[in-house]
Amino acid sequence: QEDLLKNIISHAKEYGYVFPSSEIYDGLSATYDYGQYGSELKNNIKKYWWDSMVRLNENIVGIDAAIFMHPKTWKASGHVDAFNDPLIDNKDSKKRYRADVLIEEHVEKINQKIQKDVDKAAKRFGDSFDEAQFRSTNGRIIERQAKIDAINARFKKAMDDENLADVKTLIEEEGITCPVSGSKNWTEVRQFNLMFKTELGSVSGDAADIYLRPETAQGIFVNFLNVFKTGRMKIPFGIAQIGKAFRNEIVARQFIFRMREFEQMEMQFFVKPGTEMEWYEHWKNQRIKWHKSLGLGEENYRFHDHLKLAHYANAAADIEFNFPMGFKELEGIHSRTDFDLKQHEEYSGKKLRYFDNEDNESLVPYVVETSIGLDRMFLAVLSSAFKEEKLEDGSSRTVLALPPALAPVKVAILPLVKKDGLPEKAREIFDLLKLDFALQYDEKDAIGKRYRRQDAIGTPYCITVDHDTLENNTVTIRERDSMTQERVEISKLWDIVDGKVNM
Ligand code: ATP
Repeated sequence: QEDLLKNIISHAKEYGYVFPSSEIYDGLSATYDYGQYGSELKNNIKKYWWDSMVRLNENIVGIDAAIFMHPKTWKASGHVDAFNDPLIDNKDSKKRYRADVLIEEHVEKINQKIQKDVDKAAKRFGDSFDEAQFRSTNGRIIERQAKIDAINARFKKAMDDENLADVKTLIEEEGITCPVSGSKNWTEVRQFNLMFKTELGSVSGDAADIYLRPETAQGIFVNFLNVFKTGRMKIPFGIAQIGKAFRNEIVARQFIFRMREFEQMEMQFFVKPGTEMEWYEHWKNQRIKWHKSLGLGEENYRFHDHLKLAHYANAAADIEFNFPMGFKELEGIHSRTDFDLKQHEEYSGKKLRYFDNEDNESLVPYVVETSIGLDRMFLAVLSSAFKEEKLEDGSSRTVLALPPALAPVKVAILPLVKKDGLPEKAREIFDLLKLDFALQYDEKDAIGKRYRRQDAIGTPYCITVDHDTLENNTVTIRERDSMTQERVEISKLWDIVDGKVNM
């Protein structure tokens, strides 16, 4: 699995999808640039999301709020006080870790030992093996499970009580070592705020501290009334937004899965208080449908319901995707109650309410949000599309089986040879299609090599112009995944391509 991720990263670089940021200076950790194909793929994902939200729902509109917001915003939202990770440093290796992640990985190791015992027993007992019964009766497993529960409970209590000293003691008592040096020489645990702070030019003192937004949602909350009034909206309605967010992540690895600068696609849906659970279920359904309709494989998705809720939520679930590193959060659906709007009322002194005709009173709406990381969606698309295939003739090819609607290049136009008037004819076809479809013209190298290049980019169709084209105005269309070719008339090309690449 690690190899798979490595191969995807190097493919993404080799074919202009994702480059390490400022690479000529050896890169900047957890920061990436999207290349010529990557930025197209990203735009196509954005459009696919935006259209499904804003175009398909009459009661959802989009905005584009600023990244900088008034500093009080982040006081009100709780981010200044509570958007922290508990950090610990190893004194010998001078490496910094998230204490919660160290503990999680430690627990995972114990879990793996349990799993090993279970797998062994399953092998030994075959069909008659009852896993639940085995887990509840095997002494060693019971002991290990109890240990896991105790560690989790103690960690949770320490965090709830803000008893960071006990987090350190827990790490020491469990003998958790530095993953790099193996040393047990730890510093104190301290809270580290994930927001990037900077200073406003002309102001001095505390008021000058401003933050790069750690989520796009707050730009929507502070604009709730603006949109409600100017858009003549009625509850329930939604506001959608795509934009950058910034978090000073400590465990920043796994390629574009966790970055310090990333993009979110969020939609806040404002509903009447008391109806939020219906809408929460509604949006859970809508979002999983959206994902599955893309065709990345239904088995690659699962829900993870949150038992431990954030301070603002009364229900929350993640949609997890089967990334090369395993199932991980791709999108969150949260019932955020009236927490944010109420906080903004308090901090701004402005009412953020609508008049409810049924109840004859002004109410602060409840909010159900869907929040997906664009870069994680990009990685989901890229990693599920990446295939290294052995072909019947013994050769192999790397192909990105991207959904045609998302592919950066829809069609490559290829003259079979660079003479006999074929390039000119190919250019004619290029001109016929270029206004409506993202095309690429390529006449360099043998045709087989050009097909491979388009496979690696993920181009779903290749149109080849050959000598027959000059005789009878037909071309071949080659399909990327099946590699089958079909001869079609040029006059029908536009309709055929349109049918294939537009969802
Ligand atoms: P995680 O638990 O993985 O840190 P989170 O629960 O903090 O994520 P949310 O605050 O719910 O994430 O943010 C919504 C979405 O934004 C996530 O589902 C994810 O897709 C995306 N996201 C969050 N942090 C990052 C990041 N550092 N890099 C890329 N995408 C991110």
